[in-house]
Amino acid sequence: ANNQNHIHYYQDGEDEAHLDRLIMLDELKQAISDDDGQLFMTYQPKLHMQTQKIDKVESLIRWQRKDGSWVNPELFIDLAERSGLIVELTAWVINTVVAQVADWKSKGIELQAAINVSAQDIAFPGFHAALVATLKKHNVDARLITIELTERDMIENEEKGIKALKDLKQIGVKISLDDYGVGQTSLGRLKMLPIDELKLDKCFILKLDASQKDQFIVQSSITLGHQLGFSVVAEGVETEESLALLKTMQCDHAQGYYLSRPLKADLLEQWLEEYYG
Ligand code: C2E
Ligand code: CA
Ligand code: CA
Ligand code: CA
Repeated sequence: ANNQNHIHYYQDGEDEAHLDRLIMLDELKQAISDDDGQLFMTYQPKLHMQTQKIDKVESLIRWQRKDGSWVNPELFIDLAERSGLIVELTAWVINTVVAQVADWKSKGIELQAAINVSAQDIAFPGFHAALVATLKKHNVDARLITIELTERDMIENEEKGIKALKDLKQIGVKISLDDYGVGQTSLGRLKMLPIDELKLDKCFILKLDASQKDQFIVQSSITLGHQLGFSVVAEGVETEESLALLKTMQCDHAQGYYLSRPLKADLLEQWLEEYYG
């Protein structure tokens, strides 16, 4: 923007969008440090198809600003990634989710929780130590935590990133490859990645019951995943038919609106009671 010409500044749509982003970034920074409830986590159950038990959840962040408006997570995560604030935001997420897992454990609810992280988090030198410290603080077993990363996030800083993931695996943290099938992981690379779980992107699952092509893709991905030693999860399961198909395809876990939307912790506890009741 040209500081000597305010009129130009406000007429320039790009600059205005830029200004909005700066304001939002500032608010986000404040929301993290205040921890006043604007930011909170929701949890979406993952059904283990063989046992019909809910043994895992994915944590998904939400932001409701002070004026009551909601900000789409894709938007503010992107903002946080571009500005580097993601490292602080992820630290907040990890602390919140690990504390929640500890709270569930104390209530006799055993759930593994997945946390979404970005390439920058993994590349950040303090990430591993911070996660270990958080687990220790809440006395939570590393095996209860899964890190979800997209293909793009895993490929950025390839060597360093893979070393960091191997170090996490070493202490028992599980690694999940998110949005599988829409990125650019070659099969050669897939073979090399230190992952435990393949998470099939929802674009193959949403219309699974109506699309034979999606069924071919999903069936072969499940088979491939199993042959490479991974557990396979389908996200975006919205219908009973899709769930049934995934079961016949030997998919390990299913996640989606058909089971439940992402819920706040107390609502998830109620949901679990009804599910088992
Ligand atoms: P994702 O990791 O791929 O998360 C799955 C998205 O699919 C979530 O959107 C979830 O609410 C939505 N979803 C779940 N079941 C269904 C279904 O049956 N049908 C459809 N159409 N959608 C379903 P959400 O919560 O809006 O999150 C969007 C993205 O924002 C996430 O995509 C993830 O990339 C990012 N995100 C969310 N929470 C966090 C977080 O705590 N940290 C980071 N770094 N990223 C996050
Ligand atoms: Ca995810
Ligand atoms: Ca996903
Ligand atoms: Ca995504």
